[in-house]
Amino acid sequence: MKRKGILIILDGLGDRPIEELGGKTALEYANTPNMDKLAKMGILGQQDPIVPGKPAGSDTAHLAIFGYDPYQTYRGRGFFEALGVGLDLDEDDLAFRVNFATIENGIITDRRAGRISTEEAHELAKAIQENVKLPVEFIFVGATGHRAVLVLKGMASGYKVGENDPHVEGKPPHEFEYGDEESKKVVEILEEFVEKAHKVLEHHQINEKRKKEGKPVANYLLIRGAGTYPNIPMKFTKQWKVKAAAVVATALVKGVARAIGFDVYTPEGATGEYNTDAMAKAKAVVELLKDYDFIFLHFKPTDAAGHDNNPKKKVEMIERADEMIGYIVESIDLENTVIAITGDHSTPCEVKNHSGDPVPLLIVGGGVRADYTESFGERECMRGGIGRVRGKYIVPIIMDLMGRTEKFGA
Ligand code: ZN
Ligand code: ZN
Repeated sequence: MKRKGILIILDGLGDRPIEELGGKTALEYANTPNMDKLAKMGILGQQDPIVPGKPAGSDTAHLAIFGYDPYQTYRGRGFFEALGVGLDLDEDDLAFRVNFATIENGIITDRRAGRISTEEAHELAKAIQENVKLPVEFIFVGATGHRAVLVLKGMASGYKVGENDPHVEGKPPHEFEYGDEESKKVVEILEEFVEKAHKVLEHHQINEKRKKEGKPVANYLLIRGAGTYPNIPMKFTKQWKVKAAAVVATALVKGVARAIGFDVYTPEGATGEYNTDAMAKAKAVVELLKDYDFIFLHFKPTDAAGHDNNPKKKVEMIERADEMIGYIVESIDLENTVIAITGDHSTPCEVKNHSGDPVPLLIVGGGVRADYTESFGERECMRGGIGRVRGKYIVPIIMDLMGRTEKFGA
């Protein structure tokens, strides 16, 4: 029999014991009646997205969980960001992530230009695209908030290029570094681009207005994360012969989903930030499941709370995810569906970044041999029936329960 599948990734879900939460993790502390019920009905385990002890980026972790070896496929973040904002790129394009930032007397005083709005960033990006001339063709577009994407057409061979982001405020921009002659050319173009863009931005009306309002001006570009086309041997959809959709707001993860063949949907109100409309995502999943075999649902703000070292916020975001999951489960036929819930990596509050800790994993639905676990949490997952697996085995386990795998041998 064939079942449908839903893979839910709560970004940065895993955590470590937190004193403020009485020694529990955020997932253990949070009130999650829906996920706890699913834990009782299903099986739990732990997964290492890449390998134990290796902190994974969101992009490499997602690649690994979708079954790709990130060490073979991954060629930098910028490319996924560019795909994620909807650009169609060629194999020889070189893409970068860009921040609008504030520079005063040669010093970066705000790496996010006071977190300028998406609308402002898009307008500034447009002005740069229209007024800056470079020796190569380029695309420069706003993403979300202070973020933007730069694509240098035909420059992929110069991918061994560094960044000008000093990563801390109160310092001048970093000098772009390069690894070979090809990337040296790219550095020259980037330096020219940054300087010309600075001139366009400095007196743009948006910045004049921000100055009057006492807000940091977006007068500089910090460029990093050079990336070229990932080496994807076969699209996910082709490999598993499924029609697959992704419900995602975050550009980076959207890009990964697009690169492996998913149709990507971002429902209105889904922002990838703390204010994201989780219910809009839940409804989109239920709707899409009518037409698709496999849905990937991504939920970002759990990761942000870990980066912000804000345990209470992480608890709140997990509880919101639980409501989202509750709505999905109530609206579908669970016997004919397989649902997996996990994170792409751990983002422990105490680390304020990704860590190499294993990530909780829950699988529930038709055909699942339930174990004796009672609730969804890191330590309960340690005694679950899945045991401890690598991220790359999650999809095969789901697909097998969905009746989509082929026998090896006679
Ligand atoms: Zn992540
Ligand atoms: Zn993160």
